[in-house]
Amino acid sequence: MLAPKPYQPNRSLFAKIERRLTQYRKAAPATVSTDRPILSITFDDCPTSAAETGARILEEYGVRGGYYIATGLMGRDSHMGLVTTPDQVAELNAAGHEICAHSHSHLDCAQARHDEVMEDVEHNIELLKDICKTYSVDSFAFPYGETRFDVKKHLAGDFLTLRGILPGINRGVVDRAQLRAFEIDHTQHSFDRAYAALDCLHHTPGWMIIFTHDVSETPSEHGMTPGQLRQILDRARELDIDICTPKVAAERVGFKVK
Ligand SMILES: [Zn+2]
Repeated sequence: MLAPKPYQPNRSLFAKIERRLTQYRKAAPATVSTDRPILSITFDDCPTSAAETGARILEEYGVRGGYYIATGLMGRDSHMGLVTTPDQVAELNAAGHEICAHSHSHLDCAQARHDEVMEDVEHNIELLKDICKTYSVDSFAFPYGETRFDVKKHLAGDFLTLRGILPGINRGVVDRAQLRAFEIDHTQHSFDRAYAALDCLHHTPGWMIIFTHDVSETPSEHGMTPGQLRQILDRARELDIDICTPKVAAERVGFKVK
């Protein structure tokens, strides 16, 4: 969600109201249809520790994650550590993880002009296709979780799912263009909230998404520890929750690009 150079989205009252209206105005209504609890574990911006430690832990449990890559940040230093290189992104893809779009320049999609967003995202998609030698990139997360209705509407035609940052389990009729997700950052509260939500998911099936950034014993304020990631995976296993990538989850719950 966050850029290596700290950037604060607009915090004015007007922006807050806009943000709320955007969240509730569905650009691509879709029904989550599943009798199984489904969890996706995802990493934004992909600092090296997410690609190495994070991926290794997921693979130990026999599952795969989603990595949202802002291609313009690849190989650069950040406050979350070094960001993965194109070669490392290709390795993640080869190991079965899903490589997802996150814009090229990690731009604020609520503030940028419509054509500027589309151009930037198109560039992101083309680079990811080239790196992964693939024909399609199916999932997108809005940098900073910021978006607008016109942007959601347009991108819903390009991607199977678009992920926001408002917490919640996706159940019933949702906006495929702004799915809910639980962030786990350095705060105990964020971990506890996501951990508790696993029980709710177990009792009432739906699709739950978790996102974080780095995975380290000394995480940045936007990351989590390897121990916390293992706790989530252990609990999901105890509760018989299926873990799959965003694309696989979206297909399982019946989403389609109209
Ligand atoms: Zn980001």
